[in-house]
Amino acid sequence: MSDSFRTPSVLAPVRGPVLFADDEGFAAEAAVFNTAVAHRPYVVVGASDEADVRAAVRFARQEGRSVAVLNTGHGPSVSVSDGAVLITTRRMAGVEIDAGQRVARVEAGVTWGQVVEEAAKVGLAPLAGSSPQVGVVGYTLGGGVSIALGRAFGYAADHVRAVEVVTPDGELRHVTPQTSPDLFFALLGGKGNFGVVTAMVFDLFPVTEVYGGFLQFAGEDARAVLEAYRVFAAGAPDEVTSSVVFLRAPDLPFVPEFMRGRLTVLVRVAYLGSAAEGQALVAPLRAAATALVDTVGMMPAAQVAAIGNDPTDPGTAVEHFAMVGELSGEVVEAILELAGPDSGGEITLVNLSQLGGALGRPAGRPSAVRRDLAFAVFALTVVPPGVPGLEVDRGAELVGRLAGLDGRKHPGYLSPSDAAVESVRLAYDEATYERLRTAKTEWDPQNMFRWNFNIPPRA
Ligand SMILES: Cc1cc2nc3c(=O)[nH]c(=O)nc-3n(C[C@H](O)[C@H](O)[C@H](O)COP(=O)(O)OP(=O)(O)OC[C@H]3O[C@@H](n4cnc5c(N)ncnc54)[C@H](O)[C@@H]3O)c2cc1C
Repeated sequence: MSDSFRTPSVLAPVRGPVLFADDEGFAAEAAVFNTAVAHRPYVVVGASDEADVRAAVRFARQEGRSVAVLNTGHGPSVSVSDGAVLITTRRMAGVEIDAGQRVARVEAGVTWGQVVEEAAKVGLAPLAGSSPQVGVVGYTLGGGVSIALGRAFGYAADHVRAVEVVTPDGELRHVTPQTSPDLFFALLGGKGNFGVVTAMVFDLFPVTEVYGGFLQFAGEDARAVLEAYRVFAAGAPDEVTSSVVFLRAPDLPFVPEFMRGRLTVLVRVAYLGSAAEGQALVAPLRAAATALVDTVGMMPAAQVAAIGNDPTDPGTAVEHFAMVGELSGEVVEAILELAGPDSGGEITLVNLSQLGGALGRPAGRPSAVRRDLAFAVFALTVVPPGVPGLEVDRGAELVGRLAGLDGRKHPGYLSPSDAAVESVRLAYDEATYERLRTAKTEWDPQNMFRWNFNIPPRA
């Protein structure tokens, strides 16, 4: 697949495409979901297997170049440039399910949609996120909060049994909590800082149905809904995973008429239990106001993506995350003021997700994921095509207000606005951050893997 005239010899055996800036297909291979980020590396290596990954890392080492990793492009941190080698993993798409052991082994390019579908065939479910397009590995390296089962079972990272990774020295390693506890810990929560994960083995759960869906209310009911949600969340058992979304849809023909150019407020909920218990739990939310749409009911676990209804087309957006320790009156007021019906409507989407439950308890396996936060707040403002950027960034204002109340961050909830080292540091408690730096200094002393939410090695 490589151009033998200019491909360096160490990359010659690579089976996937090796693309330089002026090659056809280079831009498509390096494209991301949020086009606010644009990659211009020295070369893109489209890895088709772990041997391709090893060759790419060895090439970078040999030439003193840095390495970046891209799968679906749903979680970019910084625009890759500066002579970097970008390894794309989407061709590594193998999924194996062992129904007896209730485990899956997935290669680096696998997305959640694939695993959900394969696992459902044998009556099992993974800890999948809201979007079927998101990559399993990138998601799990930040913790991974399942939209349906997160609070019931904990982080996806808590259920990883083994990680196969090409470390910055170019070697493929099989990492388990028993064989390399420090590297296992660092990989799960330390994101892309420690090498290229080529495959992962993790637990599946015997879940075939949930009571779930969303309630969608008019923007005018935002306060009543948020107040009802606050009470609902405070009393929710671990079997309930939920979030609230303030969504301002564009005034465009493809948007359903009742949402066009308007704010609506969605409560997205999943309950791992019976319909009768679910109905009783959700009743106070249904009573908060008249729902315009109510999809909540028993649903196959394979359909959980319908709870989130995430966007599927790439676009440009400015994103910010804040974490909060409690859903206080101040948090509610800040959201209403900056994203509510009287806010002026600059922010396209605000998502408030409840953590806690099993996400708040120590797991049996080591990881660098934090467990001391109650809610994650995400603000996204779409930048329309042809417009250079935002004139006013109300999402930053909202997150700034909330950060003033807490200030902690979380490795699974970082956006390009958090790419600075001081910001990444806030995603870990002191002891975890120091342990990650020790691991980084051991495994990547040159900081070859720096196109990420970087944890620099010690000098
Ligand atoms: C629409 C949408 C919905 C989402 N829903 C959820 C959700 O429900 N729950 C949740 O927890 N998160 C969710 N996320 C966040 C998502 O999990 C992260 O952004 C994740 O990093 C995406 O991984 P990716 O591989 O798909 O994206 P990419 O942009 O391809 O990768 C992101 C980063 O992960 C690292 N990485 C990826 N693959 C590897 C690898 N093989 N080896 C080493 N490093 C690697 C790299 O540093 C890379 O820059 C969502 C994101 C979006 C855009």
